[in-house]
Amino acid sequence: MERWVYPVTSLRPEDVEQKRVCTTRTPLRGEYAWDAGVAVGRFLTELKAGRLIGRRCRACGRVMIPPRMFCEQCFRPTDEWVPLADTGTVITFSVCTISWDMRRLEVPEVPAVIAIDGASPGMGIMHKLGEVGRTLEEILDRVRIGMRVQAVWKPAGEREGAITDIRYFRPLED
Ligand SMILES: [Zn+2]
Repeated sequence: MERWVYPVTSLRPEDVEQKRVCTTRTPLRGEYAWDAGVAVGRFLTELKAGRLIGRRCRACGRVMIPPRMFCEQCFRPTDEWVPLADTGTVITFSVCTISWDMRRLEVPEVPAVIAIDGASPGMGIMHKLGEVGRTLEEILDRVRIGMRVQAVWKPAGEREGAITDIRYFRPLED
């Protein structure tokens, strides 16, 4: 496959410091706290313990992840917690060859939506794939919609109750 080359101009910190680009500064003094709420609070607590959890609505039978306390289809509260596997299927993915600040990435990143096993169809979480190659060609050869994957967790001592407690999802061997 022919290598795709995207024309990019990387912006470095010194470009801003030396005023090579037009910038403006706005000092912000925002102080705020974010309340995760009951459902996402439990979801984050379970992540810290190395587990995924969903929430079932008994009226429609759906198991939702990320969990929520209210079913938007039945217009009623959800009913129970459902422990889920840390395996799933890639629903869709993308390959990023440049970073948020327009630097070319040595190893492309592969964000993906993963349908978690045990949750209802269409329920997926956004994460990234790993161990799928180090070049665009390798990644495009390897990654497929429908690919089976499993979470690679940080060690327990490094987990902090965040989605990044999962480092990435790696392909499951068939
Ligand atoms: Zn429902």
